Amino acid sequence: MIVAIDGPAGAGKSTVARLLAERLGFRYLDTGAMYRALTWLARRRGVALDRAAELALLATEHPVGFDEQGRVFIDGSDVTSSIRRPDIDKLVPVVARHPQVREVMRERQRALGSEGNVVIEGRDIGTVVAPQAQVKVYLVADEQVRAARRSTERPGIGADALATDLRLRDERDAVNMRPAADAIQIDTTDLDVGEVVARIEEIVVAQRSA
Ligand code: C5P
Repeated sequence: MIVAIDGPAGAGKSTVARLLAERLGFRYLDTGAMYRALTWLARRRGVALDRAAELALLATEHPVGFDEQGRVFIDGSDVTSSIRRPDIDKLVPVVARHPQVREVMRERQRALGSEGNVVIEGRDIGTVVAPQAQVKVYLVADEQVRAARRSTERPGIGADALATDLRLRDERDAVNMRPAADAIQIDTTDLDVGEVVARIEEIVVAQRSA
């Protein structure tokens, strides 16, 4: 079974998807980490972020990998923490908007998500990467709450700056970010992680016995 969890930054995707996968005993695939890792490598190699073909080649030659603990690797480097820095937050949509890059990444995401039960988290999972997913959830939350959540993950950056960054990222990501027609939308503004996970678990259980 594939459970697709999509939505904007700060809606709670990562925390929810990780916990959900743990509770269900499913694998977890973070597709945002893959675009982040490619962006990290492009900067390291000095590949300009507007060179779609070069970026797509870089992605083909250096597939992103994950270990059992969810650590992220590219080109032999463990990039788990370096891909969570604010400079990568800002640049990753520039890389992710190239259709050629998305083609390579989506193919790899389909390969990584093809075995057994998996929770896949991203922006376009329910619509493009895995439209056949049996459960599709689209998480949303108020902008202020999303910025506040981000601020605990990015200490040292002001609330206003974070809110502006999120808004910019939403605008840049908008073209690839929309709920699938058959996605269940959950507004996480007033819910804690446990409540969101419990709701999705109920949907999964209902789907399994259908
Ligand atoms: O989810 P996360 O914040 O880690 O995603 C980082 C960026 O990767 C997003 O802002 C978006 O530009 C890109 N992304 C994407 N498609 C996905 C997952 C992430 O374009 N499926």
